[in-house]
Amino acid sequence: MLFEDLSLSKSIQRAVAEEGYTQPTPIQEQAIPIVLDGRDLVGCAQTGTGKTAAFAIPIIHQLHRIVGSSNKKKLIRALIVTPTRELAVQIGQNFDNYGKYTNLTQLTIFGGVSQVPQVDVLRKGIDILIATPGRLLDLHKQGFIDLDHLHTLVLDEADQMLDMGFVNDVKKIVKLTPSNRQTLLFSATMPIAIRELAEMFLTDPASVTVSPVSSTAEKVEQRIYFVDKTEKRNLLYHLIRNEKLSDVLVFSRTKHGADNVVRSLRKKGVPAEAIHGDKSQTARQRVLDAFKNKEVGVLVATDIAARGIDIDQLPFVINFDLPNIPETYVHRIGRTGRAGNGGIAISFCSRDEAPYWKDIQKLIKVDVTIIEDHPWPWHQGNPETETIAAPPKHSNRSGEKKNSRKSNNSKKNKKRWY
Ligand code: AMP
Repeated sequence: MLFEDLSLSKSIQRAVAEEGYTQPTPIQEQAIPIVLDGRDLVGCAQTGTGKTAAFAIPIIHQLHRIVGSSNKKKLIRALIVTPTRELAVQIGQNFDNYGKYTNLTQLTIFGGVSQVPQVDVLRKGIDILIATPGRLLDLHKQGFIDLDHLHTLVLDEADQMLDMGFVNDVKKIVKLTPSNRQTLLFSATMPIAIRELAEMFLTDPASVTVSPVSSTAEKVEQRIYFVDKTEKRNLLYHLIRNEKLSDVLVFSRTKHGADNVVRSLRKKGVPAEAIHGDKSQTARQRVLDAFKNKEVGVLVATDIAARGIDIDQLPFVINFDLPNIPETYVHRIGRTGRAGNGGIAISFCSRDEAPYWKDIQKLIKVDVTIIEDHPWPWHQGNPETETIAAPPKHSNRSGEKKNSRKSNNSKKNKKRWY
């Protein structure tokens, strides 16, 4: 299928062509006709599948038809609620790109910055509002936002909003919108809480899934190193230097941890920057730009900050710490292999993280290559704590072995891994 087969207005087709897109991605192919049809939609899709365009393009098409070149005061007709500032900025850029040959206007609002410029634009009137939940409710309470004329509400990254404790805010926001609105809900995973939310707020929704729930991107090659906790920084440096890695996104569980990793890399002469919630919006944008422009080869991020990072063809993701929530692993490795490009996701698992790795394996059900050949494997320790399934002895290249275990319960293939 081609974009021209989707009966989109010429101005959108032109903008999409300028982005270099020829074919819609699977989520776009399925979701765009449904949204154009005015139906509610639940979309289960990971980041990197092109889901932003899957809702932005049909929204622009519909509003362009309604608003046209009218000079009447603009009213908010589409609202996109998303968990983080970075995501909000990224979605705003998508609307800018695809809507550049229309007269539609839009605004992106988020907290942590002055509300004055945001309020100035709201006063003039906009067609599309992209917002994080807190700032949206705040400005609504102050009377600057009128959602009475809303056509379409998008709840983006719904599972992340839940994880971040925004569920009540989301419920409040939905109640501020007209009941005959169109509602689109997107989520990378579909836990029960999300299904309940969909049942509560969507009417007879169509459902679109582009990869099995919680599956990891197939194009991503995954590798794991079982490494002593205290040696993770050395291993990181060792990999970056020996394997000449650049454009590396490193995940740290904590902000403090992210800063420490950056410090240790810089000490060894590797230019690195951290991106996390303690940094101002301006500082985060500056760091992100430096990474995108390849001035900095290593970006160390916390999960929340990383949610909004959209970098095409990110080749390497490194899980410096394993996440304790398995779905977070899926989100993280979805940062590489975006829009069909291959990528490598490397994870470090220390002894105390072994239970996390077990949970991740249960969720992803994908063979992950275990790299044994490195200087800092686990030392002999307390055999009570961990049992990691051993790889069978068929190396696919020097020092690498595939863990072909199909079931976590299979005792046959288990071996203590230290
Ligand atoms: P998303 O899943 O919305 O974060 O999009 C991931 C990346 O895919 C972004 O960098 C988009 O610019 C890109 N993208 C979206 N749609 C297409 C398409 N049809 N063809 C090629 N790239 C696309």
